[in-house]
Amino acid sequence: MKKGLYLVISGPAGVGKDTVAGLLGGWISVSATTRPERPGDVEGVTYFFHDRSSFERMIHENELLEYAEYNGNYYGTPATPARRHYENGETVIFVIEVVGAGKIKARFPEAVTVFLTPPSFEELRARLVGRNTESAEEVEKRLEIARREIEIGCRDYDYVVENDVLEDTVAKIKRIIEFEKEKRNAVSDPE
Ligand code: 5GP
Repeated sequence: MKKGLYLVISGPAGVGKDTVAGLLGGWISVSATTRPERPGDVEGVTYFFHDRSSFERMIHENELLEYAEYNGNYYGTPATPARRHYENGETVIFVIEVVGAGKIKARFPEAVTVFLTPPSFEELRARLVGRNTESAEEVEKRLEIARREIEIGCRDYDYVVENDVLEDTVAKIKRIIEFEKEKRNAVSDPE
């Protein structure tokens, strides 16, 4: 039976990761987090919200494929649903930050990692200001984190894709998925 594909999508805040991920046609993993809910968040849809002690219990019980601390909060990927969808032959998409992505790649070397970059820093600043969810100070902090993330992304990820025109970005990543699936099937089934 054909296994699925683990696909990691990362990129700085404001680059459009969730929008892109939602258009790829795979199953998107819902993460657990300790960060406070924001307007628009829905329990079980955008995240599973936990306090620190219940998150730490999940870590100790080995219930997470990976986890990381970002901006003072825990974020992690529940293992069971991801495994189930993978075993079912689906493309399982993780929209996660760079430390967690490294842990997924170490655990599943066959996972495909894609880093999304903004067309420019000015564009990223404009998008962060435009979505109006962060204060000016928070925007500058996010841009500083973005600089570091982009450095890591360009060095360590399998693919770096600039997210300028949304449809082009989605088409490019769909080609990457097809290409990587063919590669795997050729290796596991050389006939
Ligand atoms: P936000 O608080 O803006 O929703 O997310 C902050 C960062 O945490 C984003 O880069 C997001 O992709 C990342 N993130 C979300 N879920 C997970 C997860 O399960 N694991 C890791 N390592 N990062 C995550």
